[in-house]
Amino acid sequence: MGLPVLFGWGKKGKQVGYIGIDKCPNCKHYVHLYLYEYASVFRLYFIPILKWNKKLYLVCSKCDAAWELNGEFKEELIEESLTSPPMETTTLLWNKVGKVIDENLDILMKKYPEDFISPMVETCIANLCDEISDIVSIRKMSLKYLEMILDEDKPR
Ligand SMILES: [Zn+2]
Repeated sequence: MGLPVLFGWGKKGKQVGYIGIDKCPNCKHYVHLYLYEYASVFRLYFIPILKWNKKLYLVCSKCDAAWELNGEFKEELIEESLTSPPMETTTLLWNKVGKVIDENLDILMKKYPEDFISPMVETCIANLCDEISDIVSIRKMSLKYLEMILDEDKPR
């Protein structure tokens, strides 16, 4: 993704989408990632008259690093922001999945030393499918949470 731009985001740009929880390539934390639009604006008596040079950025909610988005990757992320659940739902699911994994991982790692990933994901689905009908999101989120736990490249 190249080097991030770091500048006081949030205040200048406008949040236009939410991507979900993923690893920030800059600070290495697993955090909420957002889409921000930034445009040059010409104002006359505080009224925006002209907007140009519109750019879309992927922004980390923790360290404020931002990546300008172009081409295919841009289309992909716009698509993702349209299909992924909102931040509140994602946070709730992330916490629930995390609780199930924290409680069961040691047991499953001993029981299935070869591959504990699939049984762990299945355990998350079995534990949460009664309250959360979105199985696809439970699966996706538990894989992401496991990725975080097993990630050797920890935050600085
Ligand atoms: Zn970050």
